[in-house]
Amino acid sequence: MLSLARSELAWQEAQRYLAGGVNSPVRAFRAVGGTPPFIQRGAGARLYDLDGNEYIDYVCSWGALIAGHAHPDVVERLQRAVERGTSYGAPTELETALARRVVELFPSIELVRFVNSGTEATMSAIRLARAATGRAKIVKFTGCYHGHADPLLATAGSGLLTFGIPSSPGVTPGTAADTISLPYNQLEPVEEAFSQAGGEIAAVIVEPVAGNMGVVPPAEGFLQGLREITRRHGALLIFDEVITGFRLAPGGAQELYGVQPDLTCLGKILGGGLPVGAYGGRRELMELLAPLGPVYQAGTLSGNPLAMEAGLATLELLRRPGAYERLEALSARLADGLRRASELAGVPVAVNRTGSMLTAFFTSEPVTSYETATLADTARYARFHQAMLRRGVYLAPSQFEAAFVSLAHGDEEIDRTLEAAEEALREIASS
Ligand code: PMP
Repeated sequence: MLSLARSELAWQEAQRYLAGGVNSPVRAFRAVGGTPPFIQRGAGARLYDLDGNEYIDYVCSWGALIAGHAHPDVVERLQRAVERGTSYGAPTELETALARRVVELFPSIELVRFVNSGTEATMSAIRLARAATGRAKIVKFTGCYHGHADPLLATAGSGLLTFGIPSSPGVTPGTAADTISLPYNQLEPVEEAFSQAGGEIAAVIVEPVAGNMGVVPPAEGFLQGLREITRRHGALLIFDEVITGFRLAPGGAQELYGVQPDLTCLGKILGGGLPVGAYGGRRELMELLAPLGPVYQAGTLSGNPLAMEAGLATLELLRRPGAYERLEALSARLADGLRRASELAGVPVAVNRTGSMLTAFFTSEPVTSYETATLADTARYARFHQAMLRRGVYLAPSQFEAAFVSLAHGDEEIDRTLEAAEEALREIASS
């Protein structure tokens, strides 16, 4: 039996001082039940909690840690960097080096602006799109999550989907009115929205592979269709590649699917586990930003030297020959093994995977949309999650999230995970 005695004490204490005991809602384990293990350290693909339990980690800081926890190259760069100071609020060559790398990898990006989170990246990209087009409305897709800026909280995914909150109190009706929320993976409603309000729509923002309703890959032609429709109507196409950037290919989902957006939002992997976001695009768009142009956006800690170092070290690790092939091979084995385990146990599971992001939905129907994702049996997922945690596998504490494979995972981790999954699925089949 998993002992979480110290975590339980830490959890009680946390709830005395932190709202809900956490700083991001899903961490509270509400959707799966039980005490969230309090983490003491991470190493490679493993997490260790206060009670000394070891877990194979598939959250990997929500996809940020593609090199795993405390990779020696990242740690060494950070150690050297911290001696030189932690923030200057003045230009450094590190920012240029990381921006140059982004521009090399993403042909749609000519200029970059660093921020501190994915939320800031999407919020600022929306502001820029509105300024560039002189239009107010934005189109997003139900179940896609783009951070917690007001205009993007209409029918978002991630924690909002977990808690069944379609939007959030505190977002004014005026703000929500400028957001058009449409079904993911369908082009017809997009055509319709543009034929009704085309002249008012500044941008379409999309997760090119949805990760925040669980993994839902784009339907054949969906991204190409969005490109064509937005171009025809003079609106911008924004790819939110906060998860997919550097993960699905060096140049993200846009490289994988061969579709060039006008603006791209990045985060997570770009900061190698430190707080970073970025947005970028064509020169003429990005030159609208202050100090060159009138669109204001700034940040005390933006381009933070430690974050830049961790990002540079991580992108360097992804450059090693075979990095993406390794992620693909391990993730394919994991997905295939989960499908086999589900058949053996007689517990229907739909496994969706694109590269090293995957979700096992507890449903017998294929998951291709928000509607089909939400058919998943979340109570069954909760039991699966608990059964896996007891066997030392740390999955996202919600059905509607992705599992992430990192470069620190190996055959041993995948084997142990599949063994645990076979047992866990048999256990929940009989409960
Ligand atoms: N966009 C996407 C696609 C995300 O997955 C997330 C966070 N999971 C965000 C934006 C927001 O990023 P952050 O949590 O860093 O603000």
